[in-house]
This record gives sequence, C-alpha cells and structure tokens, in this order.
Amino acid sequence: MRRRLVGAILIGAIASIAVAWVCAGWGKLGPCVISSHDDETFRSWDGLGTTLRSFERRSSPAYTSVDWRVGWPIRCVHCTTLVFGFLALPNRAADVRGAVRVPAWTASSTTFTVDTDMLGDKYLPVRPLVAGFVIDTLFYATIAFVVLFAPGGLRRVHRRRRGRCISCGYDRQGLALGAICPECGKELSIG
Ligand SMILES: [Zn+2]
Repeated sequence: MRRRLVGAILIGAIASIAVAWVCAGWGKLGPCVISSHDDETFRSWDGLGTTLRSFERRSSPAYTSVDWRVGWPIRCVHCTTLVFGFLALPNRAADVRGAVRVPAWTASSTTFTVDTDMLGDKYLPVRPLVAGFVIDTLFYATIAFVVLFAPGGLRRVHRRRRGRCISCGYDRQGLALGAICPECGKELSIG
C-alpha cells in the first residue's frame, strides 16, 4: 500500500509538470488586458493552463518584468524575465530565471510571447509554485491511484503478470501474444 501511494504521488508530480509544459507549449493565451498608470503598464493574458503577466516601466530605468505561470488545474511552475530598456527596442538584454531554454519547434508561437515574440528564444518554466504544485500533484496522484490500483485494475495487473487473460483469467501459457482467448474470445495481448 505504501509503495503504491508513493508511486501514485510520483506519477502525480510528473503528470503535473508534463501537463504544465503541454499548457506552456500549446495553451492559447486570451486577449491582453492592459491597465496603465502614468509611465507604468500592466498587461495580463490568461489561457487554458497558462497565465502571463508583465509590468512595464517606461521612465528611467526602463524595464519590463514578466511572470509566466503554467499548470492545470492550478498553475504549478513559473519563470520570470527581466527585460532592460524599452520593450519596443531590439536586442534588449534579458534576464530569464526559473526556465529552461527549448528548441523553438517544441513550442507554439504563444510560448513566452510578449506582444510579438519577445526574445526570439523559447522557454519552459521550471520553478515550482509550491501550493499549486502540491495541489496538482495530489490531483493527478488521485487519478493515477484510482486508475491503476482500483480493484479491477489491480486484478488485471495481477492476471497480466501471471500470464493470464486479463479479461477472464484463463491461463494463456503457450498461446501467441495476439491470439484470441479460447475461454472468452477476447483478443488481448498479455505483453
Ligand atoms: Zn479470456
């Protein structure tokens, strides 16, 4: 039981990150919500499993900071970027934290985009947001536990291990992998 719990939690943690990165790569951001005060502008975008917020300051020292959070159902990892100078200028120096750089083809055009393709590089957030990470991990761990270890699932795993038909329990020893079960007629691989 303990091993199963640990296994489910591990699967939950991996699933949280995997889902977050899928949201990062393919989650479409909705329209930009802008609010400005004097020389400061807040922008925010929301999408399925992805949230981008930026703060731009135009008076000296001008900079833009961006916080990108991904994850579903709760945002569980994030990264931040500090861009020095005006957002409109090319070749801005940028300080990206809590992210890994990824090949451009792995991500859609929405990935880490401010206005248009802010930095040219693509990133995936890796810094955990503790509360979100815990909630997402428990969420996926629960699903993993129910799917893998519910009584029916357990019985199927057990039958498969013992080389029996996972549908009816007939001993399949000597039968080809894809062969139809002589007992119940189901064509089931026991791999
Ligand atoms: Zn069978």
